[in-house]
Amino acid sequence: MDECIFCKIANGGIPTDFIYSDENVVAFRDLNPQAPVHVLVIPKKHYSSGIAVDDPAVWGNLMSSAVKVANSLGLEKDGYRMVINTGEQGGQTVPHLHLHLLAGRNLGWPPG
Ligand code: 5GP
Ligand code: ZN
Repeated sequence: MDECIFCKIANGGIPTDFIYSDENVVAFRDLNPQAPVHVLVIPKKHYSSGIAVDDPAVWGNLMSSAVKVANSLGLEKDGYRMVINTGEQGGQTVPHLHLHLLAGRNLGWPPG
């Protein structure tokens, strides 16, 4: 996955400040934040989307890491949203599985 931008971020090819990292995931700030807090949590291993995930542990690692990041930023007080855009109609633009962690303002519902 030489061309994948999130693989490059995860493997250090693009220098990035990680808010969190462990053996399975990294978390970093979104380039184009949609809320005062907008963090992306991604598996280090390339999956083009959630549809490609073949191991339930990937979901466990991603979600539990996102909760850790949320707690480390103090977001449990006022709340937050986790979003995984999937495929074309899901609004996915980067073809490497990622979880958006959004917080810091009242988030509208339903999404656009
Ligand atoms: P998607 O639309 O696929 O759910 O979300 C992709 C997200 O990745 C967008 O919010 C976009 O701003 C973010 N993004 C795209 N390229 C980069 C990048 O090179 N660095 C960072 N930090 N975020 C990126
Ligand atoms: Zn990738």
